Amino acid sequence: MRKFVAALAAAAAATLYPFAAGAQTYPERTITVVVPFAAGGPTDTVTRLVAEAMSKDLGQQVIVENVGGAGGTLGAGRVAKAEPDGYTLLLHHIGMATSATLYRKLAYDTLNAFEYVGLVTEVPMTIVGRKDLEPTDLKGLVEYAKANKDSITVANAGIGAASHLCGMLFMSGIKTPLVTVPYKGTGPAMTDLLGGQVDIMCDQTTNTTKQIKGGTIKAYAVTSPERLDVLPDVPTTTEGGLPEVQVGIWHAIYAPKGTPAEITERLSKSLQVALKDQNVAARFAELGTKPSPEADATPAALKAKLEGEIGRWKPIIEAAGQYAD
Ligand code: ASP
Repeated sequence: MRKFVAALAAAAAATLYPFAAGAQTYPERTITVVVPFAAGGPTDTVTRLVAEAMSKDLGQQVIVENVGGAGGTLGAGRVAKAEPDGYTLLLHHIGMATSATLYRKLAYDTLNAFEYVGLVTEVPMTIVGRKDLEPTDLKGLVEYAKANKDSITVANAGIGAASHLCGMLFMSGIKTPLVTVPYKGTGPAMTDLLGGQVDIMCDQTTNTTKQIKGGTIKAYAVTSPERLDVLPDVPTTTEGGLPEVQVGIWHAIYAPKGTPAEITERLSKSLQVALKDQNVAARFAELGTKPSPEADATPAALKAKLEGEIGRWKPIIEAAGQYAD
């Protein structure tokens, strides 16, 4: 009888605290971070750098899985439904907030489907064009785009993606809708820009800096208030006459709802260590960005950021009346 009661108590404890034992010994195996965009793009680049540094700290491999499509909502949906055990995570950007309004029929409830790990970095964007595009500056590009509005093509990573958002700001700034070409991420979009299959794109510096410096694409503007140290010759959108095109793309790590707090706290600590890693800091600097401050790489800071950003974008998207579905 005593044995039976002990077994019953153990079973009850396991039901009440199903992850407690796992949380204490976490992580015991490989962790997968889902990037909701194609490989080779800026979100992928940021994730791989951080994942490598977190692997060292956690003593387990942190690998990346690319689940691109529908502006990042497919990958986010995949993680929303994953086992909440700390072995499947999501690294997403500002699109996590904008898609909450842009998509009226999302497969997950943005604010209630995830636990928060922390903010990773905020990246400025650049307006770039294929190497042989005629205009040489932003003013010239605006005139050219207006004159060729039915043929000039703008690449993006789908509705809700950062490139889509920035492209919309550009089109609304020049008061001219242009032809957009959606990809599963701006990694493949960059390949087509380099090959001359598309004309322009707005994308994070983490995807464009190397190409701009190498002269394989044309840079028209950075979307930050000031010029960037890493691209000192590229004027800001304000200098180029389009002050409304200002946007910074923040990236963050999430876990499925129900992941134990001990695990998200452990991951957050590991993220803080990763953001202080010399290789991460150096590579981020080369790519025109920098790690989020330690205080922002926390669950509480990310929760506040996501709530604030959903609230900030909701009225803007509703006023524009442009939905993905
Ligand atoms: N830069 C992309 C975007 O437009 C996403 C990516 O491929 O990282 O949101």
